[in-house]
Amino acid sequence: MKTQTTQKADLDWKDLPFGYIKTDFNIRYHYKDGAWSKGELTSDATVKMHIADPCLHYGQEAFEGMKAFETKDGRIVVFRPIENAKRLQVSSDRILVPRIPVEMFLEGIQKVVAANARFVPPYNTGASLYIRPVVFGVGAQIGLGPAKEYEFIILVTPVGPYYKGGFKPVKALIVDEYDRAAPLGMGAYKVGANYAAGLLGYEYAHQQGYPIALYLDPKEKKYIDEFGTSNFIGIAGNKYITPKSSSILPSITNDSLAIMAADMGMVVEKRPIDVEELKNFDEVGAVGTAAVITPIASIQYKDRAFTFGDGATAGPVSTKLYEKLTKIQTGEIDDTFGWLEEIKA
Ligand SMILES: *Cc1c(COP(=O)(O)O)cnc(C)c1O
Repeated sequence: MKTQTTQKADLDWKDLPFGYIKTDFNIRYHYKDGAWSKGELTSDATVKMHIADPCLHYGQEAFEGMKAFETKDGRIVVFRPIENAKRLQVSSDRILVPRIPVEMFLEGIQKVVAANARFVPPYNTGASLYIRPVVFGVGAQIGLGPAKEYEFIILVTPVGPYYKGGFKPVKALIVDEYDRAAPLGMGAYKVGANYAAGLLGYEYAHQQGYPIALYLDPKEKKYIDEFGTSNFIGIAGNKYITPKSSSILPSITNDSLAIMAADMGMVVEKRPIDVEELKNFDEVGAVGTAAVITPIASIQYKDRAFTFGDGATAGPVSTKLYEKLTKIQTGEIDDTFGWLEEIKA
């Protein structure tokens, strides 16, 4: 245990947006001739690109997202980065990007977070340091094929809560006009292309007054898949139920919440969820790193609305899970699952 003595950056920590704020450093690795270079910290926030870089033309790009926190006793910790490292390898395999070794990924996180320690929001502000690793194919090329060279960059930026309104339920819309993923496509991989595919559905939901879009499975349009940027969880009595599907991204937040739910004595089910089952849920949540859990007040499906609880306040199970996870992240309760990696100053 160690108390950080860093002088913090002059920011309004309690009122940070979920956006980009420039920090002191990012770290970069370059892949060429079959090997990754040593990581280099730079304060340059721009990349110089070639007009024929294949990531620009063919979307050969994958990314990750996780957070660092300052704990109650002054340490800086990152939540489950090994899982992000492994998931980036899975995403990379799908789009023929060379794997980034787990040790290299973790070393990059250590270095870039330590170098930006003054941007890790102080304990008890509700803010955190968002960590965004991104890998993309470079090297002039026009013919289709995997790139010959790659850039791996980890940038960090302090962020406030994802939803400014706090832990308050929002209305969701099932978008069945557009798909964000294909049955054996890229839905299970964290690649930028999924987000491009989801933008129009997101716009469509927003225009109708729904802050969040929910997708059904792209093959039969019968089962719940996931929200545009977060997994679906449903609470029914003592059950924690989450979809099993080949077109959803395996969320580390969902995995963590499910482990906690089982530990609390709940029954965890991972299986296809028929859209008709929505009427059975007491609580529904959208789960991911950005917001941990966004409680869902109601889901609109064609001309029907499914409402959860009183449709205005978060349910008791979601609230309990949310509080427990966020307290583990900030060291308020013991990290009994071994999820925190400490950053050495
Ligand atoms: C990143 C992401 C999630 C959430 O995953 P976490 O590891 O919990 O942050 C969910 N769905 C999609 C499509 C994602 O890209």
